[in-house]
Amino acid sequence: MAARKRAPAGAPALMVKAAKRAAKAHAEHPPAKRPARRRRLRGAALQAQADTVLQRLLAEYPDAHCALDHRNAFELLSATILSAQCTDKRVNMVTPALFARYPDASTMASARQEDVEELVRSAGFFRSKAKSLIGMASAIVARHDGAVPDAMEDLVVLPGVGRKTANVVLGNAFGRNEGIVVDTHVTRLANRLGLTTESDAVKIERALIPLFPREHWTILSHLLIEHGRQVCDARKPRCSSCLLADICPSALV
Ligand code: SF4
Repeated sequence: MAARKRAPAGAPALMVKAAKRAAKAHAEHPPAKRPARRRRLRGAALQAQADTVLQRLLAEYPDAHCALDHRNAFELLSATILSAQCTDKRVNMVTPALFARYPDASTMASARQEDVEELVRSAGFFRSKAKSLIGMASAIVARHDGAVPDAMEDLVVLPGVGRKTANVVLGNAFGRNEGIVVDTHVTRLANRLGLTTESDAVKIERALIPLFPREHWTILSHLLIEHGRQVCDARKPRCSSCLLADICPSALV
């Protein structure tokens, strides 16, 4: 434990008071318990860790699914664009009115920027998101006859669409496991569980892909996101009630 500072003998009264306050605060709010230094898993141990994580989370969250409400690929693509820097819950509050007015790519492509901005304002970054939605819809109308394409290379060149958004659409609207969606929850859990030490989303995806069977790539993201929301909170992970605590190198128990 780190030594707490004491005021030196003969120190001015103010210093003595400050030292007493610090000692009191330390006693009332001791520093959070830190996990032992994380082991870096490799080879067979890393694969066994991935297998156990997947099996336990599949059993724990049999209904895990995409949290963005949608009825088709166009709605999911639009909702995913809106979800940048915004909660899925907030997006789900915005999209009913948006899709009632612009139900497909051709109506969205001819929308006025200011009208879309008004509808998506509460999702944040509303100007750039409105621009992306109209740009995405215009490109789909121009290049794909108004139908959302189902190929990674066609999706990632649409305005406002990156690899993560494309993975969401391919996995959840088309049932195609082309990659693994890496968001803030997946990044945090993959690191805490010792599945990777990377912080960059592309590198994390590259590290996870060989560890999990392809047919589970889409559900894996939903499972990690669900566990992150329910148990492995960013600031206060509930390790004492976590079903992965016995194999987690970051467990605070
Ligand atoms: S044991 Fe703690 S850090 Fe590890 S996955 Fe569970 S909640 Fe997260």
